[in-house]
Amino acid sequence: MITAQEKIACLLKTARSLFVPGVYGLPCSKLWHPEHPRCDIAGFQFLSVCSVKAVKIYTALYLLPQLLKHKSLYEGLKNTFPGVIRSSAFLTCHCYVTCAAHCVLRRLFGHYRAITVAFIPSAIGSLASINIEKYHRREILAIYMASLALECLYEMAVYRGLIPQLKGGEIALFSLSSAVLTHFHRNKEVKINDTLDWLMSKLLDCKHQDKPVQDKYLVTRIREGLVDQLDKLVSGYFTCNRSDLCKHEKSCLAHTVDTGLNGLIWGTIIQMCLRLLSSGGSLRQVMRLFAQRSDLARVSSFVGAYSASVVALECLLHKANIKEITPALSGAVSGLLFAIMPEPSGPVALYFFCRAFQGVYKKLIQDEVIREIPYDVVLLFTLSTAITIHTGVCEPHLMRPSYTAFLNYLTDQRYEQLDRQLINEVMKNTVNRDKT
Ligand SMILES: [Zn+2]
Ligand SMILES: [Zn+2]
Repeated sequence: MITAQEKIACLLKTARSLFVPGVYGLPCSKLWHPEHPRCDIAGFQFLSVCSVKAVKIYTALYLLPQLLKHKSLYEGLKNTFPGVIRSSAFLTCHCYVTCAAHCVLRRLFGHYRAITVAFIPSAIGSLASINIEKYHRREILAIYMASLALECLYEMAVYRGLIPQLKGGEIALFSLSSAVLTHFHRNKEVKINDTLDWLMSKLLDCKHQDKPVQDKYLVTRIREGLVDQLDKLVSGYFTCNRSDLCKHEKSCLAHTVDTGLNGLIWGTIIQMCLRLLSSGGSLRQVMRLFAQRSDLARVSSFVGAYSASVVALECLLHKANIKEITPALSGAVSGLLFAIMPEPSGPVALYFFCRAFQGVYKKLIQDEVIREIPYDVVLLFTLSTAITIHTGVCEPHLMRPSYTAFLNYLTDQRYEQLDRQLINEVMKNTVNRDKT
């Protein structure tokens, strides 16, 4: 008969055994945290590193939009402080729980399985942390991770020879996504996401501002002045024979040029912001940004040409009186311009594909064709993150380079220093070195 005292002692002993150095063949310290043999100390070191990096990442991410809204640095920091703390807590918790789960699983089972190296620990970390993050940001994270996971699965399938490398696959994917998203945006059938709606309106619903001229930005003044001149010129020579379905004020040609110029400007602004954010405030990275100006020009040209093409085709198709399919057809054909985008363009196409898929899913729920999957966002985030981190740890050559750089930054180069040979061995043999 075991007494209550003995039970508590046994529990404490088991709990202690989870955090003292391993005595079995392949300890987690060798595979996961070579910087310190003790799991608890390595865990606390990792926690401190990740928390500092997470605060840096989220401060840059949330502060930049505030500064763009002409807020002072003090006001910007004051507005973003709660969000930075909350998101940093999410990211830190995710990293720490993933690492802790790795060590706990290793000690519980006494050996490694391929799935316990990164997949299950990461899934546990995701489940434990996602609810810390703000509700609307959970969806953004889930969609981003889903696009990454799809890319990893695709790369795995190509690497194993299961499917061929699809040439131009990203163009077809973007064209399809563009058709769906343009259709939803024009018909206002379903609200997919605030940021996406904002982006679509900026690119496709170009209007002249009602503010006094002196309150407008210089680029806006130049754009509107050029378009007004063009409109006068065109109406002086041609009779504008536009369809009743065209809702724009100027002629179809002037509206197309206006939308194209607007897309070019917004494409440049968004890209600059994204690149500044991904540079993490590093001066060297910002300098590299200017060195890659040909890429910058190609992306901006694509955004401008895409916006102009959608509205031009819509104006043309309005005359054909095929109202129902006009936005989708314009979106699909204009999506082919994705060929202008510099490599690698796959991640962008995958992101918009995930958004289009989300739109279709929401529409089907709205029309009561299917029922909403309970905890869909949490499940999507958990599964996608587990696939991505598993790929990053076990098959890093298949991982998107920008995400590899992010993991390296977040973990203070610990990710790069993982013993790949040992991980390969675990993956090949599913090492069982219990009590060697
Ligand atoms: Zn450990
Ligand atoms: Zn028109």
